[in-house]
Amino acid sequence: MKNIIDKLRDEQNISDKELKELIEYTGNCDYLHSEADKVRRQNYGIDVYIRGLIEISNYCKNNCYYCGIRAGNTNVERYRLSREDILHCCEIGYELGFRTFVMQGGEDPFFDDDTMCKIISAIRTKYPDCAITLSLGEKSYESYKAFFDAGANRYLLRHETADDIHYNKLHPETMKLSDRKKCLYDLKKIGFQTGAGFLVGSPYQTTENIISDFRFLQELQPEMIGIGPFLSHKDTPFAHFENGSAQQCIKFLSILRLMFPKALLPSTTALGTALPDGREQGIKAGANVVMPNLSPTQYRKLYGLYDNKICTGNEAAECLLSLRESIGSIGYRVVIDRGDFAGMKQS
Ligand code: SAH
Repeated sequence: MKNIIDKLRDEQNISDKELKELIEYTGNCDYLHSEADKVRRQNYGIDVYIRGLIEISNYCKNNCYYCGIRAGNTNVERYRLSREDILHCCEIGYELGFRTFVMQGGEDPFFDDDTMCKIISAIRTKYPDCAITLSLGEKSYESYKAFFDAGANRYLLRHETADDIHYNKLHPETMKLSDRKKCLYDLKKIGFQTGAGFLVGSPYQTTENIISDFRFLQELQPEMIGIGPFLSHKDTPFAHFENGSAQQCIKFLSILRLMFPKALLPSTTALGTALPDGREQGIKAGANVVMPNLSPTQYRKLYGLYDNKICTGNEAAECLLSLRESIGSIGYRVVIDRGDFAGMKQS
């Protein structure tokens, strides 16, 4: 195992066979995590970047089988934030030290290009020193370009799985992996710092699927990579599937850090939900970003992608305070910074 980890760290190509061995390895991962941490320190020191997550809408026209806010779930109380709500979240966030705002939502037609561009411009004008990240799903090249021109800098769009057959097991026929991939290449071309990523332990996932995920990421070269364990939601077709493994997710974070030394790697809320100190363990294993919730408290539970989501009751300030403490206690430092990709000039 050490030999494969050293090869990865030294930026040598590893074969599918070696990658498979690493993915399926169930022994002690201390060496993997500590090598990943070294690489992280070389590129980002002990800094942990925070992103203020604003969940702007839980309306969604899609029907992803794993997701709690899918259109077909009639048990969800739907909400959307107004422009004023969103700007108020930014105001609170800025005071708390956030210099990146992430607007995420279901694919809600209410937020058309014009509406979104007005919100983006308002944030851009008011907070010129902040990065604006969007995570609003699949759009046309023109829409993405309009968002970019209005002042957005980054876009998160996980590919979810890079294998066509597996993708079709997680999504209805109307959704295609090729569309998702095209969006990611469009985003890169426009100049967004682009985030892809996949679900760990999603139903029907095989080792070969995960190899495809790593290979696709190597081809795309995203600036950000978001992964988190699949967590079941009671009102979805995947209600009875087992959750993905937090340990496996942490191991993949280390592999990603070695493969993509400069990537921005969040230790996700899903990881923190799967394991009480999951986010901290993710940071120790090579992740360098956390995304505390900035949404108004009353809506957090309604943005239910999966069951038992953490931090739905806390004020933004409490969330951040406890995270800052726990991250400090393991030897890292939450910083007030836009936290751009280390391999890129300010955009
Ligand atoms: N509509 C946007 C945002 C989706 S929510 C988009 O399409 O990109 C953000 C991410 O949450 C998804 O990309 C997915 O990877 C993750 N997610 C959704 N349901 C989940 C579940 N049940 N368990 C874990 N993660 C989930």
